[in-house]
Amino acid sequence: MNNKRKGFPPGMQQKLKINIDPDTLPPVVCAKCGWSVFIQANIIKRIDALHSPTGKPQPFIIPVLFCTRCETMFTSDNMIRIDEYQKLKKANTQ
Ligand SMILES: [Zn+2]
Repeated sequence: MNNKRKGFPPGMQQKLKINIDPDTLPPVVCAKCGWSVFIQANIIKRIDALHSPTGKPQPFIIPVLFCTRCETMFTSDNMIRIDEYQKLKKANTQ
């Protein structure tokens, strides 16, 4: 058995290959205001020395998204497709 061809070239192992064409995905908007532009920021948590792989306190970075219009934090809970938002808005005005 030839093991030389096994695996990926260096640097490739960590990359997840996802065969999704972004053009086919439905756009999502802010559930509060319907806006579709978000800015990324980070929440920093502290990993205490006891739980840190280096034995020293480490920052633990959690990226978060904010709507650039109403500044609502964007999570999977308030992620809504644009057509769903329009339907909701229509229902609320009736
Ligand atoms: Zn918004």
